[in-house]
Amino acid sequence: MLRVTELRLPLDHADGDLRAAVLARLDLPDDELIGYAVFRRAYDARRTSAITLTYTVDIEVADEAALLARRAGDRKLSPAPDTTYRFVARAARPPRLRPVVIGTGPCGLFAGLLLAQMGFRPLILDRGKAVRERTKDTWGLWRRSVLDPESNVQFGEGGAGTFSDGKLHSQISDPRHHGRKVLTEFVKAGAPPEILYVSKPHIGTFRLVTMVEQLRDTIEGLGGEYRFQSKVEDIDIAETQAGERRVRGVVLAGGEYIAADHVVLAVGHSARDTFAMLHARGVHVEAKPFSIGLRIEHPQSLIDRCRFGDHAGHKLLGAADYKLVHHAANGRAVYSFCMCPGGTVVAAASEPGRVVTNGMSQYSRNERNANAGIVVGISPADYPGHPLAGIAFQRHWEERAFAAGGGTYAAPGQRVGDFLAGRPSVALGAVVPSYRPGVHPTDLSTCLPDYAVAAIREALPAFDRQIKGFAMDDAVLTGVETRTSSPIRIRRDEAFQSVNTRGLYPAGEGAGYAGGILSAGVDGVRVAEAVALSMVEAPQGG
Ligand code: FAD
Repeated sequence: MLRVTELRLPLDHADGDLRAAVLARLDLPDDELIGYAVFRRAYDARRTSAITLTYTVDIEVADEAALLARRAGDRKLSPAPDTTYRFVARAARPPRLRPVVIGTGPCGLFAGLLLAQMGFRPLILDRGKAVRERTKDTWGLWRRSVLDPESNVQFGEGGAGTFSDGKLHSQISDPRHHGRKVLTEFVKAGAPPEILYVSKPHIGTFRLVTMVEQLRDTIEGLGGEYRFQSKVEDIDIAETQAGERRVRGVVLAGGEYIAADHVVLAVGHSARDTFAMLHARGVHVEAKPFSIGLRIEHPQSLIDRCRFGDHAGHKLLGAADYKLVHHAANGRAVYSFCMCPGGTVVAAASEPGRVVTNGMSQYSRNERNANAGIVVGISPADYPGHPLAGIAFQRHWEERAFAAGGGTYAAPGQRVGDFLAGRPSVALGAVVPSYRPGVHPTDLSTCLPDYAVAAIREALPAFDRQIKGFAMDDAVLTGVETRTSSPIRIRRDEAFQSVNTRGLYPAGEGAGYAGGILSAGVDGVRVAEAVALSMVEAPQGG
């Protein structure tokens, strides 16, 4: 298989045009092209009057070597890399002690799936409920203002990304094509096959729910076991004669002890009680940078028009997204985060008395509003003194938001015009906010540190110069956006184990090793490989 890159065609090209473009590019007679498959399709909308599609195509020809020789020096033709996933180990027999995976978010799911596929029969624990029951509890907050601290947008089967836009792009370095493995398994579990080739794939929340159920069936069919409502509340660490700290087991809420010598910790960025427990047990934890800010909503039609001009609404383009960055005069970077075209802003709190925003959408992305976090980078210098100080910082601003929203889990909100003018909103305008259970017009400057407010006030007009109307008076801001990534890192070594606790594998977003669904899934694959190799080598694992 050979790969041809950068084939440009007009947006509305006919079916046969791609084959013709391959033949023309390679100066190839028609009968020499046996077949082709689109590896990647992206669009270039820099000129809205002439939007083009850019293809990367894998081709089959009768004589690859001859074609490569003929086109020596053509940097847009090369052998296609082999992206087939190959397992690194296989359990010769069921392990005496099962590997334990804590968390069923994308990281824990893929760690569990890979371990199951390699024959290690993992035990997978989650503090929350199975996804259907969890969905009801999550709606409980959105519809009735009732928060279940163990079953919500952050906790339960599928993890934080289940009620999301399901965007699947990532910029991680992935030399072993683990991302391809994750996407392939997602498609087997029911994701739309196009996620394998479109440049900005997304799944939408509705399908994600059925996909995580399907992945559970697969894992259980391979001998893995799931246990929901099984919060890991403590971890048993012993010191060996050689002075090494080693995991011996985990303790569930309720007191049940589970012996384990390989524990994957994929608890996500909101498991604050678990982070505190790990720190108290001496596991190396350090503060790391993250971002805080607000969520903004505009009419999706405004974004579509600006990005796609007359092509707005074209079926291959879908609802338009954006990515914006501004470097503010006070030294802070402001950027758009987790942009959800045609989606809704969601209540994403997991602790009582706190308000957190995030965004989600359905596959169709056909809701009226576009939303995105507009967030400001912060670092441990802003919350100095303790490895867990970032959590206290998040809680402080989430409590402010709860109070400013009226103490009912309504989000505090403000018109952009009022926010920029420094006056509280008393009513909202033409853009109707989508956050449920509701939005309370107020002054959002009480919900963020002054430097973040100043940086966002400077960024919005700058963004308006890129997307005309971005700073429109009636665009709505809600807050606060605090769960952009983990406030801590649980440092691990090259064997993927905690730097001071053997057998503990910190993984995914919560441990500071992923940001988003795809990278969390990829980290799950990598950690599963490390666990499998260790279990194959270790006598107790085999
Ligand atoms: P998580 O998904 O957070 O999973 C952690 C799991 O661990 C949870 O199920 C939790 O219940 C469980 N757990 C925690 N503590 C314990 C314990 N002590 N014992 C047992 N179980 C425990 N990313 C994207 O790439 N694209 C998007 O479109 C997108 N949209 C998002 C929308 C929303 C509303 C949210 C909240 C997030 C979104 N994200 C998105 C981010 C993405 O969801 C996360 O990056 C990803 O889920 C992280 O995966 P993870 O497996 O590391 O952790």
